[in-house]
Amino acid sequence: SLPVVAIVGRPNVGKSTMFNRLAGERIAIVEDKPGITRDRIYSRSEWNGREFHLIDTGGLDFGEQDEILDHIKNQVELAIEEADVILFVVDGRDGVTSADEEVARLLYRSNKPVIVAANKIDNIKHKDEVYEFYQLGFEHVIPISSIHGTGTGDMLDVLVSHF
Ligand code: GDP
Ligand code: MG
Repeated sequence: SLPVVAIVGRPNVGKSTMFNRLAGERIAIVEDKPGITRDRIYSRSEWNGREFHLIDTGGLDFGEQDEILDHIKNQVELAIEEADVILFVVDGRDGVTSADEEVARLLYRSNKPVIVAANKIDNIKHKDEVYEFYQLGFEHVIPISSIHGTGTGDMLDVLVSHF
């Protein structure tokens, strides 16, 4: 079966925008795991001839403020369970937030490779501002703009190197 890549991160960082940019054919994955189709969108994607399944674990990113952390926890737990590689999306312009730190803490528990995608870097002049995200503790921090597509090739190169 194909490698599975899960997109995680707090609401509004651009997970769905990234998913839409990377998505190939939309699919419903039906496996014998109960509940696998809940609250997530899947696609079959490809980079340099390497195929993979992509999951937008954000699903419906809404809820009362006090539900958001629970929502993020569920999302990350599902990603850890199902994914071979995790794309951890942060807002590169906001800097590190406490919700980002919470996601990072949850991800430390897995031994899955994690790539931090510092999104919303629409102007390459701002790419050095993403260095602060190394404090989250992961090896790869890549500035990208999901709206313009800049940086996504570098990100995908790193991603497929972990398959
Ligand atoms: P999600 O909640 O993490 O799925 O985030 P969305 O994909 O829904 O995006 C949240 C908001 O950020 C939307 O208004 C997007 O248009 C915007 N957004 C996403 N990616 C980028 C980007 O690369 N640059 C900028 N400037 N805005 C972005
Ligand atoms: Mg979304």
